Amino acid sequence: MSNAQYDAIIIGAGISGMYQLYRLRELGMNVRMYETSDGVDSTWYWNRYPGARFDSESYTYAYSFSEEILKEWNWTEHFSGQADNERYFNFVADKLDLRKDIQFNSKVTAAKFIKGDDLWEVELEGGEKARARFLITAVGVLSATQMPRIEGIDSFKGDYCHTSRWPKTPVDFKGKRVGVIGTGATGVQVIQEVAKTAEHLTVFQLDASWCAPLNNSKITDEEQPALKASYPELFKICKESGAGFLHQFDMRSIFDVSPEEREAKFEKLYGEPGFGIWLANFYDIMTDEKANAIITEFIARKIRERVKDPKVADILIPKDHGFGMKRVPMETKYFEVYNQPNVTLVDLRATPIERVNETGIKTSDKQYDLDFIVYATGFDAVTGAFKRIDIRGEDGQALVDKWSGGPETYLGMQVNGFPNMFMLVGPHNGATFCNIPRCIEQNVEWVTDLVKHMQNHQYKRCEATRDAELAWTDHVYETAAGSLFTKADSWFMGANTPGKKRTFLLYAGGAPNYRKKCDEVAANNYEGFKMV
Ligand code: NAP
Repeated sequence: MSNAQYDAIIIGAGISGMYQLYRLRELGMNVRMYETSDGVDSTWYWNRYPGARFDSESYTYAYSFSEEILKEWNWTEHFSGQADNERYFNFVADKLDLRKDIQFNSKVTAAKFIKGDDLWEVELEGGEKARARFLITAVGVLSATQMPRIEGIDSFKGDYCHTSRWPKTPVDFKGKRVGVIGTGATGVQVIQEVAKTAEHLTVFQLDASWCAPLNNSKITDEEQPALKASYPELFKICKESGAGFLHQFDMRSIFDVSPEEREAKFEKLYGEPGFGIWLANFYDIMTDEKANAIITEFIARKIRERVKDPKVADILIPKDHGFGMKRVPMETKYFEVYNQPNVTLVDLRATPIERVNETGIKTSDKQYDLDFIVYATGFDAVTGAFKRIDIRGEDGQALVDKWSGGPETYLGMQVNGFPNMFMLVGPHNGATFCNIPRCIEQNVEWVTDLVKHMQNHQYKRCEATRDAELAWTDHVYETAAGSLFTKADSWFMGANTPGKKRTFLLYAGGAPNYRKKCDEVAANNYEGFKMV
């Protein structure tokens, strides 16, 4: 259908968009969702690379709003793999009958606000257009795939793939010489899996990552009833924690306890499932460089113990940042991979890649002939997906221009000059440094309440004021300055994308504070928004 008109258009059938569609339909709205791919849940649809799995406890990654879904779905592992995750989101889509409002294989290329009509008009690849009162972006923080800028990248005659564009047909690496570029959370998962079957695996590492054991395990049928009975308690813990996880920081300083006590705590956390070693540690490992140096040395020691060749171990120990200053990749026998005879680690800081050529990768000292190159090189994070759509506000201003000096938003949900556009998990949104599903539920419910408020008052237009936007942006940078995140060059800072301004893209003030602020804004008659 072309030039159709809806009450709301949602871009993206990921976890946040799916829930938003469900909630807006409950308000009696006529909603259209556009999705680039042919399936739901973008993250686990696209990232189907070998080894892809949750780093969040499975049951904390699930929607919590539906008793029926919680009751009917059984997680089989504490940290579930991609195939099950994709099945889960398809199950939810069927259960809520979402597909009838989703237009698949439909990429939104542009969106502009029509002044006077107070409507958004979106355009799809191929020219189809549609209009709606509300535009809701659910485009994801890690969806804009980023290939590295390496000379000759297209000349390679073998196969190659970015991890977030992995084919649906599984790739068999048996008998193949495989190269992996990138050792972030994705690269680590790929490497530990591909090393099991590849004839030879060569890992091309720029900077090493501070990884920690995932300590995954199966959930037996006998364990299901007790686990399900504990869901309300688990969701409560997540709600109270800073980042929406089951893990809560120890509010004692690392210097308040003896070296023996902290060593015992580190050992315990290192042996437990999930992010505890990072997010249930002494709080000041994330705020004080001296405290951080202590846990950093502990993790370095673990790497030295696990990797047999001390020279290889040394390359695997990060030199440019402390533990936890970047998102910690979770691993399962990752370091032991480097003890295998079929695995080679190349230190690109010592011998940089010069080019990709027809047969493989040429570094400054050697040619590596390969059959398959895996690019685990990450994303143009947080703002990247917005940049790939030509979004124009009421005076024709491009969002990309407004954000050229870094994002400016109110609550990470709205932008002055872009009325009626709401961003789920937008830049500087509380859901950005959070176990995403826990925080997107808050985002969706808050936006739904605001839309309902507008319906009740017959408002046609809602826009964040410039003052509110500036105050929120200042607050975001103030809270970030109190953390060590700003010290490392990561996607949190946009530092992984060539040419992008180095600025903090997330919100580090904690999910409970963010929720409180959002609730206060709503209670104060949507303070900071102008509605007419
Ligand atoms: P990433 O953290 O940005 O890592 C990209 C990797 O590619 C880094 O090792 C980077 O090296 C390397 N790289 C980039 N350009 C390169 C170049 N030109 N030459 C050589 N190496 C290059 O991306 P990611 O690993 O995809 O992870 C992104 C985020 O996705 C994670 O932080 C996490 O939030 C999420 N994720 C979640 C899960 C999960 O929940 N299970 C799994 C995977 C990812 P430098 O670091 O030196 O720049």
